[in-house]
This record gives sequence, C-alpha cells and structure tokens, in this order.
Amino acid sequence: MSAQNAYLVLQGGRVLDPASGLDAVADVVVQDGAIVEVGVNAGAKYPGAQIKDVSGHLVTPGLIDIHTHCYPGLGDFCLPTDLMGVDSGVPVIVDAGTASTTIIELARRAIIDHPDTKTKVLALMDPSQIYLANKTFICHYLRIADDERNIDIESAKQVIDANRDVIVGFKVRPTITTNPDRSPFLDAAHEIAGDLPIMIHLGSFPHTPVLETNKLLYQLREGDIITHACRGGGGQLDDKGEPTKPFIDAYERGVLLDIGHSAGDFHFRTARRMIERGYLPNTISTDLNVFNVDGPVFSLSTTMSKIWALGVPLVDVIKMNTVNAAKAIRRSDLYGELSVGRSAEVSVLRIEEGPVKLSDGHETIEASRRLRAVGCLRGGVWYDAVHDLKGVTAELQEAV
Ligand SMILES: [Zn+2]
Repeated sequence: MSAQNAYLVLQGGRVLDPASGLDAVADVVVQDGAIVEVGVNAGAKYPGAQIKDVSGHLVTPGLIDIHTHCYPGLGDFCLPTDLMGVDSGVPVIVDAGTASTTIIELARRAIIDHPDTKTKVLALMDPSQIYLANKTFICHYLRIADDERNIDIESAKQVIDANRDVIVGFKVRPTITTNPDRSPFLDAAHEIAGDLPIMIHLGSFPHTPVLETNKLLYQLREGDIITHACRGGGGQLDDKGEPTKPFIDAYERGVLLDIGHSAGDFHFRTARRMIERGYLPNTISTDLNVFNVDGPVFSLSTTMSKIWALGVPLVDVIKMNTVNAAKAIRRSDLYGELSVGRSAEVSVLRIEEGPVKLSDGHETIEASRRLRAVGCLRGGVWYDAVHDLKGVTAELQEAV
C-alpha cells in the first residue's frame, strides 16, 4: 500500500470519462485513496509523486460488473471474488442473487466485509427466505423457489433496512405458483423494494415454472433491470426476430437491459437485432460463475469486447460499465465517473489489435480488436489484472 499522503499519478493514458465528456491523453492523480486531479499534464504539479506510466492504455472510471456470483463457500456455484473484481481490472462488482434474506449476513461476514476481499462488493439479494444458487439448482428441484411459504415480507424488510450499505436491490426469479398471471416472488419484491431496483432473470429454470415474458415485461417498473436481455428464445423478439410490443413498451417505460452473458444467455444474433432496431443494452455484465469462466465469458473485458465488436462505439461501451452501471444500482454519487474527491476507483485497459475470435457459446465472430484489462485502482490501491491477462493463453487455446 502506498504511504499516507503520497501522490500517485496514472500518467499519460487516454482518459475516457463519459460522464464529463473527457477523452484526451491526460493524468489521473490520487492521494490517500481519493482522486485529487484529472487533466492534461496534471501530474506535473505533483513533484515526487509515484508515477505509473499508462501511456498507450485506456484509463476509465472504475468498471462495474452488476451481475456476478461472488460468494465462494456458499454453495458451489461462485467464483473467487477478486478473480472477477480487481484481478480482472474491475474494482466494483455486484452479486446477483446468489443468496437470500437468511443467508446474506453470512455473505457479509465471509466475503463482502472480509478484510481479505480487495474488491468492493455490493448485493442484489433474492427476496426469498431461502435461496442459494448452486450447481444443481437445489432450490428449484426441491421446489423452494416456487413455494410461497418461502416469502416473509416483514423479515425481508428488516434485512434490507439493516444492510442498505451493501444491498443495492433485488434479484428475482419470477417463478409462478397457482396463478399463471402473477409471480408472488416478484410481487413481494415490489412490495418491499421502495426505490431499490429489481433485476429479473429472463428465461426459464429447470424444475420451476416462470411468468411468461409478455406478462413479466408489463409488471416491471422504470429502473427495474432485465438480465440475460440478449438471450435467444427469451420472448423479447417475435418469430420474425422483431421486438415485441411488451418489450418495446417496457424499454420506453425505462426498464433497463443488462447483458448477463452467462454460458448460454447471450446470443450475438439477438444482440445484433436489438442494436439494429435501436434497443441498446444499458449495462454489460458477465454472470460469471463456475460454468462459464473458462469460456465463453472469461471476463468483463471479453464481454465488453463483444458489444464493441457489434459496432457500439467505444465510449458507449465504457459508459455502459461506468455511468450506466452506477445509475442502475443507484450509486451514481459514489461510482461511475472520475470526479475529484471521490474514492479512487479507476480501471486501465489496453486495446489489442486483432483479428481476434470472440464466441457467445453458440457463434464465433472475428473482431478487429478487443479490450483487455491491465489493472485497476480500488480505493487508490493498484492491482494488476492477473486473471484477465492470464486469459490471453486460455482464449488462444479456445480459438485453435
Ligand atoms: Zn446469474
């Protein structure tokens, strides 16, 4: 860790801060964990500062991945927290519903608040009493995920009130019970959500029935988040591949589209069509878990590269994982921009010229270039992106 009051300068990178519109070769100066100045040659004002030369690289606000599974030891589905976080150049990650109301406190003690966790972790909590994401879908095959006795609104409210510093919303599996038109789990989440967003899983689950997409879309509020938004067969596009009316209405109402790539929940074909029709994703997330880290997801930078490869301008790709992601989890006051006085969450990426192969798990495309994380500052402390850089080898093997 750098000495107290010592200045650190990320020097000479292409600083891309969509919030301020800055896109220039510039320096980012931090001290004591906070950003003190951003600007062209700003580092020259701080003689004696520690210099980190990032010339030739992109420097962005700290990237945020709003859909990960990062509570290793709770079940067998999660990956090591920092692997998806600082070791991939991502200072802030959000767990999307690995755990529910009776389990979240343990996640706090073991992971979120644990001193060994370097990454800033926030949570979208499943509002059920018992939900644990695991490899065999136990809460689905034991039919806990569609048993209304699993809902306890009063205790869920208490858990929210006691943990507002880390719980940024809900992750809901919109399962149905006796009434095919309503999900009691979605209704319960809406009853207690207040101003917190609800992320819903688009698509099905083994063993438990879910609300039909057309019905689901009409029940989402402005600011609620559809994850797996570009999956195939999700019901957002009709038989001709055109966006459905409920989907268009939801989008126009301000429901947010999140990638949530996962092993099989992102299709280039769906994403291409949605982007062509003007329905851009709001956020790019990975849904990283044990089933997809060795491909096709690998890392957030790989996932961002796929959206970039579909023709979305780089500044918009960066915006999706900074400004937009911070806004989606209602943390714009803390994250998403390089503002003086804020905690120093800063990502550094490099552009690798291709051609490179990128796979969604169904289709492989050839992109002319890709992003890869070099490292990040988390609270002003530098971490090399050791996981993302290791991916160079894995992806080359995959492409062979
Ligand atoms: Zn997930």
